[in-house]
Amino acid sequence: MSDDIDSIFQRAKRGKALFLDRKALSPEYIPDHLPFREQQISAVAEVLAPALHMSKPSNLLLYGKTGTGKTAVSRYVLSKLMAEEPSLNIFTPYVNARIAGTEYLTLWEIASSLGLTIPKTGLAIAEVIKQIFSVIQSQSLNVILALDEIDYLIHSYGDNILYQFTRAGERTATGFLSIVGISNDLKFKEVLDPRVLSSLGEEELVFPPYTVEELRAILAERAAVAFKQGVVPQSTVNLCAALAGSEHGDARRAVDLLRIAGEVAEREGFQRVDDACIRKASEKVEYDRVEEALRSLPLQNKIILLTISKFQQGTNTGEVYTGYATLAKRIGAEILTQRRVSGILAELDLLGLVEAAVVSKGRRGRTKRIRLLIPTDTLEKIISEDPSITAAA
Ligand code: ADP
Ligand code: MG
Repeated sequence: MSDDIDSIFQRAKRGKALFLDRKALSPEYIPDHLPFREQQISAVAEVLAPALHMSKPSNLLLYGKTGTGKTAVSRYVLSKLMAEEPSLNIFTPYVNARIAGTEYLTLWEIASSLGLTIPKTGLAIAEVIKQIFSVIQSQSLNVILALDEIDYLIHSYGDNILYQFTRAGERTATGFLSIVGISNDLKFKEVLDPRVLSSLGEEELVFPPYTVEELRAILAERAAVAFKQGVVPQSTVNLCAALAGSEHGDARRAVDLLRIAGEVAEREGFQRVDDACIRKASEKVEYDRVEEALRSLPLQNKIILLTISKFQQGTNTGEVYTGYATLAKRIGAEILTQRRVSGILAELDLLGLVEAAVVSKGRRGRTKRIRLLIPTDTLEKIISEDPSITAAA
């Protein structure tokens, strides 16, 4: 912490020599070679190819867990398509619904990418969609829209805009709009209106998780672009792949780990990115994940977590409820029913913040053994940021 400024700068100067191209590890970077996705690349290309003779490609739905290469593959194929025939009036806007934030802002980005100027608030959704289709028709635009993380949109707003989009798509006389919808959530199809699903999912493609061996090869290739020779030994790549592959084969996590480990090595003034740097990076990624999950929890969920944290040896559903009700009352929060609290416990379990294992009590039925899975001090740190709790707890 209290390193003097000279030694910080000295180390930084030495460490800087580790990277060759730091950007190659940034989340926006699209590599020009995507191993293990040849099949998906050809399949997407097949579906979109009709655009090159001015026919409307089928809509396409890509889904798979995070870090399975969906964004990289779709951006890669779209950029190749654009390079193929620059004269064809083909537009391939890319909009990420989660980053855009709301239904309206997603539409705003789509409209802007087609050269429309619409206000950032105020118009009705249907009106914006109408304007998008009228510019497509009047200028005979051939549009392939990549709509990334649409699951976010559906969960927060329902499938209204997808419904309107896919319907309006049937009505253009000249020009077309095809949608490449991308979802990180495999189950999101279940909540779509069947009409939206049959239109959006004319073609579907699943992206399976990468195996640890695949992650290893992907990382080795990326490390060769991002770092100077000899900076990242094979053993480091192997450990990084093993850690990222332990949950599901998530290439994003693997690349993030490598980037953070490189930054750790740089700060420490190391000449190489070693196993210890990867482990430090892994702790940081895990810590950030927990912090982010905690911060975004509703008040009631925080109260329940705080209650569980008071039982160091673990506890059960009944005790949690009694403790919760007392604390909620002290804070002046609404006291939820036992049923709702059980529901929240299941959510916290899914998030990996608590473990709620069913245990039998013999003839007296079953209960849940509940245990906090995160460090109490992390929890307390985040909770202390929430003024409504700290005043009372
Ligand atoms: P998703 O959109 O499925 O969450 P991304 O396409 O964003 O995943 O991929 C996550 C990260 O992993 C990105 O940095 C991407 O460049 C990289 N990546 C994914 N698949 C591959 C691959 N086959 N080869 C090289 N890098 C890949
Ligand atoms: Mg993505």
